[in-house]
Amino acid sequence: MPELLYEGKAKKIWATSDPDRVEMEFKDDATAFNGQKRGTILDKGVVNAKLTTVLFTVLERAGVPTHLVRQLDDRRLLVDRLDMLALEMVVRNVVAGSLAQRTGLQEGTRLTTPIVETYYKSDALGDPLLNDEHVAMLELASPERLADLKQRARTVNRVLSAFFAQLGILLVDFKLEFGMRRGEVVLGDEITPDTCRLWDAQTQVRLDKDRFRRDLGQVEEAYQEVLRRVMQNAAL
Ligand code: UDP
Repeated sequence: MPELLYEGKAKKIWATSDPDRVEMEFKDDATAFNGQKRGTILDKGVVNAKLTTVLFTVLERAGVPTHLVRQLDDRRLLVDRLDMLALEMVVRNVVAGSLAQRTGLQEGTRLTTPIVETYYKSDALGDPLLNDEHVAMLELASPERLADLKQRARTVNRVLSAFFAQLGILLVDFKLEFGMRRGEVVLGDEITPDTCRLWDAQTQVRLDKDRFRRDLGQVEEAYQEVLRRVMQNAAL
């Protein structure tokens, strides 16, 4: 039996025979509001494993290093083991979620230029927003490293915004996590409708975890619709 190294809200991390690599298994479990709301989204794990594989492959081709090695089966990816930074980088193109709450700006307002935010990855603290001085004070990243992470996040945004636009999907916002691999910064974790806001470009219909968070219904259908559009495009 492989050793379970870590179990999070949506994924399990398993050891492999190679100390430099781990298996990432995507579960159907869903949580929101810092774990206060719990549920299951049928086959979410299958959708998220496939989407992360496709999106990380697109990013690699665009010159963004990621931890992806290859997809192993419908729920599991082989990835490089990273020493994760305790930071979550959020990129926003459109006002939604906590940005609407914090600023009073209306959800759906287009930002004239994308913004990058930094959050402290801490379940105990509820992932608080940090400014650059907090990041330095907490020694989560040097100013140079933080500038580099923001630059990478902007590059990911350019690549993925263009990718989703081809599918008739507006990339509203998303969260990234980075880690270190032999001294090099590498994109880790996942990119899925759990970690992005994806709106139909024409109708603004939500195709992401907000359907679960806000009890909008048709949660499974939304995840399947994103996968369908992505795979249709990949086949072209
Ligand atoms: N996000 C995430 N994990 C988190 C917090 C946010 O993946 O712990 C994603 C979320 O899905 C959205 C973006 O980051 O795409 C911005 O989230 P926001 O700050 O608006 O927080 P929320 O409204 O989701 O609490």
